[in-house]
Amino acid sequence: VHVVSGVAQARELASLLPRPVGFVPTMGALHEGHLDLVRRAMNENASVVASVFVNPLQFAPTEDLSRYPRDLDGDRAKLAHLGVDMLFMPTPQTMYPAGFGTAVDVGPMGTVYEGAARPAHFRGVTTVVTKLLHVIDPDVLYLGQKDAQQTAVLRAMIRDLDMNVGTSIVPTHREPDGLAMSSRNVYLSPEQRAAAPSLHEALVTLCATLEHGSSKADAVAQARSKLSPLAQLDYLDVVDADRFEPVEQLRPPAFIIGAARFGKTRLIDNLWIEP
Ligand code: AMP
Repeated sequence: VHVVSGVAQARELASLLPRPVGFVPTMGALHEGHLDLVRRAMNENASVVASVFVNPLQFAPTEDLSRYPRDLDGDRAKLAHLGVDMLFMPTPQTMYPAGFGTAVDVGPMGTVYEGAARPAHFRGVTTVVTKLLHVIDPDVLYLGQKDAQQTAVLRAMIRDLDMNVGTSIVPTHREPDGLAMSSRNVYLSPEQRAAAPSLHEALVTLCATLEHGSSKADAVAQARSKLSPLAQLDYLDVVDADRFEPVEQLRPPAFIIGAARFGKTRLIDNLWIEP
C-alpha cells in the first residue's frame, strides 16, 4: 500500500490508478466494519483508496477529538493485508491550513437527530468528504449503514452539488451479541459494554412491533422497555431513508434509528428497511 500524506502527491497517485476507483474514507482505529467496506470496494473496483483522518471539523469542542482512538500502524497493516492500493493519511494542518474557512452545508437534514445532538457535526463531515472527493476523484464512495444519517446527508450533498461519484452503502457489522461495531466501543466500561446491545434489541423490538400493526407511539414505548437502565435514551424513531424525516408507518426505504448514552459514550444504531 502506498501511504501518502500530501494533497498534491495523493492527487497525482490517485489519478494514475486503473479505474474504476473505489474510495473508503475513515477515521481509523479500523475494525471489521471498516474492513467490510474495503472488501466490498476491492470486489467492485479495479483500484481502492482508503483514507484515515480524524477530522477535527466534525467534533464539537466538548467532544472526544483528543482521546479518539488512533492506531496508524495497525490501520496500515490491515489495509496492506487486504491489498488496498493507496492510503491517504493527511494531517489536520494539511487539510485545514491557516485561512481555511469554506464549509459545505446540506441544510435541514443535517440539523435533526445526530445533527441536533451534535450541531456542527454534519457540516464537518460534508466539508471533509468534499475535500477528499476532490483529491481522490473516485468513481464510487463506500459508506457504512451504521451511520445512517451520514449516508443520507452525503447522498443529498452529492445529488445537490452534481458531484460525479456513485455511492455504495455497506450493511452494519455487529458483535455476536448484536452491538454494532464502533471505534467508540472501547470507551465502554464492562458494565456499559454488557448493557450496550440493548440499543439494538430496542430497535429490533420497535421493528417487530410496527410490523405487528401497532402505532409508532406504542412501538416506541415497547422498544424503550428493552433498553438497559444504564442507557440514557436520546431518540428512537422511524425515518424515510432518503430524507431522514419521521414517518408513522414502516414504508421502505426506511431506517429505524436510535441513539443512547452509556455513561459518557454516545452510541447510535439503526435497522435498514430495504425496498
Ligand atoms: P468512521 O471511522 O467511524 O468515520 O467510519 C468510517 C466508515 O466506516 C463510515 O462509512 C462508517 O459508516 C463505516 N462503519 C463504521 N462502523 C461500521 C460498522 N459496524 N459496520 C459497517 N460500517 C461501519
